[in-house]
Amino acid sequence: MDNQKLLDVQDLVTQFKLDDGILTAVDHVSFSIDRGETLGVVGESGCGKSVTAFSILNLVAPPGKVVSGKILFDGENLLEKSKHEMKKIRGERISMIFQEPMTSLNPVYTVGNQIDETLRIHKGLSRHEAKKKTIELLQLVNIPLPEQRYREYPHQLSGGMRQRVMIAMALACDPQLLICDEPTTALDVTVQAQILKLINKLKRQLGMSVMLITHDLAVISEVADRIIVMYAGRIVEEATESALFEKPLHPYTEALLKSIPHVGKGQDKLYMIEGMVPNLLKKHEGCLFAPRCEYATDLCRQSEPELLEENGRKVRCHKYTSKWEGQR
Ligand code: SF4
Repeated sequence: MDNQKLLDVQDLVTQFKLDDGILTAVDHVSFSIDRGETLGVVGESGCGKSVTAFSILNLVAPPGKVVSGKILFDGENLLEKSKHEMKKIRGERISMIFQEPMTSLNPVYTVGNQIDETLRIHKGLSRHEAKKKTIELLQLVNIPLPEQRYREYPHQLSGGMRQRVMIAMALACDPQLLICDEPTTALDVTVQAQILKLINKLKRQLGMSVMLITHDLAVISEVADRIIVMYAGRIVEEATESALFEKPLHPYTEALLKSIPHVGKGQDKLYMIEGMVPNLLKKHEGCLFAPRCEYATDLCRQSEPELLEENGRKVRCHKYTSKWEGQR
């Protein structure tokens, strides 16, 4: 085991057994996250990014199931853990925050109560110690007047403040890995930037690793160290943040980048990726992106490209198959 790697997902397959057939939501996905690293996971909704996160946490609900692969967390395979062990890991070592904090916050308890409870259950703190630590956590996530907020209910806070409370709660047990699933999608642009800045600051301050899931490449442009791009349950590209933004290799990544609005650059209209994501219940031949790809050739429509690696970059596209394989 490479000691740098905190999380090492190997050949993960997660399927849903539906009335119409088997849907492979995560299809032989492999990636890792180093200690202290932020990995961005990007793709349209339905591309498998959230199911990947739920698979890591052992939270895939039936009829979904992880059918094969390994999820090594600090060297231990999470797929071999019991429900009880996973509950402990989720409470103490891996935390997750979601798009809409109201679905995770309990409306009938005060903010303080909810964070206190996490600290008392998982850290065994007394009531007094938990209150002290909760107020420190509210300060850490830049919530003004933390003593007052401690006594307030979730509905009394703005969307941005609620997301900060969720982050405070997620940090209560000093997790080694924080998974953020579309943490800023429900927020307006200014608040979005503040929350991302906060996640970045906390990552550095606390030395944790972050997996940041989003449909919007712009969101992770300054936060992620490395990015994986997912399409139809597969990884289609992986690169460092700077390499990906400087020179996207996969046509899907290129299209995602083109669809980022550039303020002040005189764009008449926003670029949209034509077409729809494929129905994964149907059998497909060739590259799954071919119906939407401006570079598609007969080869693309006939055979599915493999994920190839060259100079620290990975891409699944026939534009590189002969070039990269030819160099071997
Ligand atoms: Fe486009 Fe072909 Fe590459 Fe698929 S393999 S992304 S269709 S160029």
